[in-house]
Amino acid sequence: MCSSCWISWHEYADAKCRQILNKDGFQVETLEDGAQGLEAVARLKPDLVVVDLKMPGISGMEVISRLRELDSQVVIAVITGYASVASAVDAIKAGAYDFLPKPFTPDELRLVVARGLEHRRLMKASQQREIEREMMKRRFVTFVSHQLKTPLVAIHQYLNVLNHLDGTDGGRDKRKAWSDRCLKRADEMLQLIDDWLTLSQVEGGRFLKQREKLDLKGIVTGILDSYAGSAQTNDVSLCGDLPLAEYPVSGDRNCATVLFDNLIDNAIKYNRPGGAVRVVAEVSRGEIVIAVVDTGVGISPRHQGSLFDDFFRVKGDATKDIPGSGLGLTICQRIVAEMGGRIEVESESGVGSTFRVRLPMWHDQDQDNSPRSDA
Ligand code: ADP
Repeated sequence: MCSSCWISWHEYADAKCRQILNKDGFQVETLEDGAQGLEAVARLKPDLVVVDLKMPGISGMEVISRLRELDSQVVIAVITGYASVASAVDAIKAGAYDFLPKPFTPDELRLVVARGLEHRRLMKASQQREIEREMMKRRFVTFVSHQLKTPLVAIHQYLNVLNHLDGTDGGRDKRKAWSDRCLKRADEMLQLIDDWLTLSQVEGGRFLKQREKLDLKGIVTGILDSYAGSAQTNDVSLCGDLPLAEYPVSGDRNCATVLFDNLIDNAIKYNRPGGAVRVVAEVSRGEIVIAVVDTGVGISPRHQGSLFDDFFRVKGDATKDIPGSGLGLTICQRIVAEMGGRIEVESESGVGSTFRVRLPMWHDQDQDNSPRSDA
């Protein structure tokens, strides 16, 4: 709903039009001529201006071009008289969005106002998306260059140390230790770059390439198998509880794999020796619900609201030495949204966490949805 709708025209700007629009919930002002209208538009920044082309003083066409200079975003509709198509065309060329020929009915007035305000809403939304994209790009560049620089500086220093180790006592062991450090930092950089690229693909809509029938049971079971070694190294038990034959959803195999891979990886790495990770699946109210439950370090309530923000990481004693980019959950949330579902978290510090993914269950009519192109 628009916050304000501005109407400015001579004669027709009478109580009746105002009354019609007020009744529909719009805030309306009427002005008697172009000069007053322009002054009021500058002051009140309305969403929509209706201009009568035939006005005393400054002409309607002049008002349109001055309005455009004043506010490039305001939507302008013109009232044209005497079935003048030519003047309507001129007005549109000068920057008006729509026109309303005299005489008009209340419904015609409503239609033009509704169309104009819808256009304004879409413009604002796309402008907002553009601003957000731009801000995100800037944030990313600053943050990622910082994140990449930190391990790179460390690698540079370690390599310098390595260069000076020749001929020293125990050189071979020391070299191994320093090159291991280099490798660890290089792995962190690679992980960050991988996550960053995945996120930019998800955001660009290029990741979810096609919608096909996926069996989450097969995907989750495969991931659990692939994490057996890592779970053992971390002394964490890992099991799946997926009793049905299959858990069908509509989506892209690669996306679903990245999603559950991230959640299971987190459940293992933010766990404790002797802890457990369990993946439980069920069907509830037409949704496939997959919960990744761990008995790990948990997340305090004050951090839970930021978990899905890009680059967010909890900086506590229990997690400060665990490597990560802070992008995994952001990627998960975007993928789940693309698949038409949602992700929820329940967690208690020191007790453990449950990340629950709810996805719409596959229906045979989903088959008709044409696959997305490999853009
Ligand atoms: P990363 O693991 O790369 O840091 P994520 O976006 O996957 O990034 O997670 C963000 C943060 O949320 C992590 O740094 C961690 O502090 C917290 N977190 C995620 N999953 C869990 C979990 N299962 N248990 C405890 N903390 C978690």
